[in-house]
Amino acid sequence: MKLIDGKKTAQDIRAEIKAEVASRTAQGVRAPGLAVILVGEDPASQVYVRNKERACQDAGIRSVPHRLPASTSQEELMALIARLNADESVDGILLQLPLPKGLDADRCLLAIDPSKDVDGFHPESVGRLVQGLPGFVSCTPAGIIELLSRYDLPTEGKKAVVIGRSNIVGKPLAVLLARPGRFGNATVTLCHSRTADLAKECREADFVFAAIGRPRFVTADMVKPGAVVVDVGINRTEQGLCGDVDFEAVKDKCSAITPVPGGVGPMTIAMLLKNTLQSWRQRLGLC
Ligand code: NAP
Repeated sequence: MKLIDGKKTAQDIRAEIKAEVASRTAQGVRAPGLAVILVGEDPASQVYVRNKERACQDAGIRSVPHRLPASTSQEELMALIARLNADESVDGILLQLPLPKGLDADRCLLAIDPSKDVDGFHPESVGRLVQGLPGFVSCTPAGIIELLSRYDLPTEGKKAVVIGRSNIVGKPLAVLLARPGRFGNATVTLCHSRTADLAKECREADFVFAAIGRPRFVTADMVKPGAVVVDVGINRTEQGLCGDVDFEAVKDKCSAITPVPGGVGPMTIAMLLKNTLQSWRQRLGLC
């Protein structure tokens, strides 16, 4: 069994980004800029934002925090997004979700300039992904494909099951896996809570991607011997953090697996930095 080390892979990617930024800025090019908007006091969001800011600083990306009170109005938030859209030093805009009650996240996401949509949540980015056009891909599914590629686990011609149909993970991941390419070209089944026989779907799959949000939901009897198992879940239980896959039972049955923590999670931030780098290159004509 191969353990897919997302922590190490994410460190490698962050080091690559850091090296590119350092070499360009040494030539006088301005550093990439990521604006991070956090509204309210949600403790989990505060941790996520702090981690993203730290990762930016490490990589030489200028992170510009905008911490707003929960009482912020929709119009104030829209005005800030408009200012950041117009700011030439900002390459990416990240709106940390969820927003406090009373604020319309969809309206805000729609207002972000798609050329700065480094989270890949804008409908234009999603449309581009579905149509196979260049654009930003949301960070968690992009990180999963990057892991498959760096561990040389091609999905071409294979059967892939994605469990979970969220807009941020399951749906875009299913589209990526069905794209042409060595780390695409899969025959994809997108499962959810209304799937008639989920265990049977999983047992037939060469690749299982679990993005459900239920601790140890995927058990050994659901996995075909030799399958590749990617666990997106992050569940806080009394015994600590665990994924959507029963890792201890499944690890001996599969050919490769991502652990939780240390699998997909660290890749999400690495891909946010990569998307910011891509936007910066495009804006400054560095491609
Ligand atoms: P989500 O919006 O919470 O949706 C969960 C999905 O799982 C839904 O599509 C739901 O089906 C499906 N589901 C729930 N119970 C099921 C069941 N019994 N059988 C089959 N399908 C079932 O999902 P998410 O935001 O993608 O998050 C999923 C997990 O990934 C969470 O643990 C989250 O914390 C984690 N996550 C991790 C990262 C990372 O960076 N590693 C990033 C994002 C999310 P229905 O649509 O039918 O309700």
